[in-house]
Amino acid sequence: MIGLAEKLEILADSAKYDVACTSSGVERGGRHGSLGSCSAAGICHSFTPDGRCVSLLKVLYSNACSYDCSYCVNRRSNDVSRATFTPRELAELTIGFYRRNYIEGLFLSSAVLGSPDVTMERMIAALRILREEYRFRGYIHAKAIPGADPVLVHELGMLADRLSVNIELPSADSLQRLAPDKQRAAVLAPMRQIAAERAQNCRDLQCYRSAQEFAPAGQSTQMIIGASPESDRHILNLTEALYRKYSLKRVFYSAYLPVVPDPRLPAVTTRPPLLREHRLYQADWLLRFYHFSAQELLSESEPNFDPYLDPKCNWALRHPEFFPVEVNRASREELLRVPGIGPKSALRIVRARRMQRLGLAELKRIGVVLKRAQYFITCSGYLGARGSRAEIAGALVDPKAFGVGMQQLSLDDFVPKVLPDAAPELHRLAEQGMQAQEAAELLRREAVTCITRRM
Ligand code: SF4
Repeated sequence: MIGLAEKLEILADSAKYDVACTSSGVERGGRHGSLGSCSAAGICHSFTPDGRCVSLLKVLYSNACSYDCSYCVNRRSNDVSRATFTPRELAELTIGFYRRNYIEGLFLSSAVLGSPDVTMERMIAALRILREEYRFRGYIHAKAIPGADPVLVHELGMLADRLSVNIELPSADSLQRLAPDKQRAAVLAPMRQIAAERAQNCRDLQCYRSAQEFAPAGQSTQMIIGASPESDRHILNLTEALYRKYSLKRVFYSAYLPVVPDPRLPAVTTRPPLLREHRLYQADWLLRFYHFSAQELLSESEPNFDPYLDPKCNWALRHPEFFPVEVNRASREELLRVPGIGPKSALRIVRARRMQRLGLAELKRIGVVLKRAQYFITCSGYLGARGSRAEIAGALVDPKAFGVGMQQLSLDDFVPKVLPDAAPELHRLAEQGMQAQEAAELLRREAVTCITRRM
C-alpha cells in the first residue's frame, strides 16, 4: 500500500512525456460559491528535462497499463513502480494544490486501467467530484481513451474544457507495429465524435441560454516524432487533414525520447530529434496562420524539412518568381509569404498604408524583421537588397540549427547525418581543441554550401 505523496510522485513523473498541453483558450471568471477561474492565458507551465515548455498540473490517473506500446515507459511489460488514484484522492489533491496556489488547472491523462471504459469511468468520477462537489471552475484538460464508449466521451466533454485523443504515431502501420493493442479506427472515432458534438454544441449555445458547454476549448492531439520512419511530408499531410476534418485546435509533436530498449525502436542512446520537432511546429504555424498548404512546403522529391532553414525561408528561396513583393500594394496573403513578416506585421502594414506610403523606416517601426525581409520586398524607392543565392541563404540560415550547446551540435550524431562532407574536418578540428563557437561558424558555412547545392 503506497501513500498519496508517493502516488503523486509516480503519476506526475509518468505524465511528463505527454506534451499536449498549453494555454487553455478558455476565459471564465470566478463566481460566488464556486472555486477557481480560468483565464485564456492558460494554466501554469514548466520545463521537461529536454528543455521543452509544458503546462502543469499534469498527472496520470493511473500508470498501471494493460497495453504494451513499445515506446512507452508505462507499458505493461516494463518494470516500473505502479500507482492508481481513487477519484476522491485525485479531486482532493487538485483542490488542495489549487487552494495553495500551486496550480491553476488540471491536465489529466491515464494509462489503460483494465479497459478504456473502466479508465474513463474513473476519470469522469474524479472530474464530477471536482466540478459538482467542489464547484471547481478552473481549466481541465482531459484525455479521452481510444476505444471507450461514446457515452463516456460525451460525459468527459461535459466536464472538461479541452479534450484530446492521442494519435500517437503518424501511420496505421507504425501503430500496429509499435502499439499492437491500439487501432487507428479506435483513435479517430472519438476525434470525429468530439468534432461533431462541438459543432452541434455551438449551434445549441446560440439557440438556448441554458445549453451546457461541451469541451469549450476544443480538442487537440499528439504525435510522436522519430520513433517510426514516416517523413515530415507524411506527418504534415496528416496534420493538415486532422485540422480540416476534426477542427483540432492544436497538433502537438513530441520528439521521441528513448526510454526502453526495443529492437523496433531507435537505440536508447539516440538523442530526441528536437530540431525536427521544431521545424514541424514552424510548419504547423504556417498551415494555421500563414495560409500555406502542406503540399507547398514539402514534395515527393524533398520529403523532409531542411535542418538549416525555417520552412518559410526555404519556400521563399525556392520560389524566386513570387518575389519581390511590393509592400504598398500586396495583399495580406502575399505579405504573409515574405520571410520576416508575420500575421501581426502584415495586418499593421495593411492598416498603415491607408494613411501613407511605407518605406523601410516605417516597416522597421511596424515590426518587420528587415534582416530577412530585405531580400524579398520593394517599397517607396527601395528596390530590394541584392545578393547571390549563397549570400541570401547565408543571411537566412537558422542559428538554432547550430546553437552552441544545443544537442544538435553533436559531432558524433548530428554532423555525420546532415553534414557528411563536414564531418571529417570537424572531427579533426575537435581533436585539436576547436571551440564550440568556431564549430558553429564552420557548420554555418557548410550549411550555406549545402543549401545552394540543393537548389
Ligand atoms: S496505452 Fe500505450 S501509450 Fe498509453 S500508457 Fe499504456 S502503454 Fe503507454
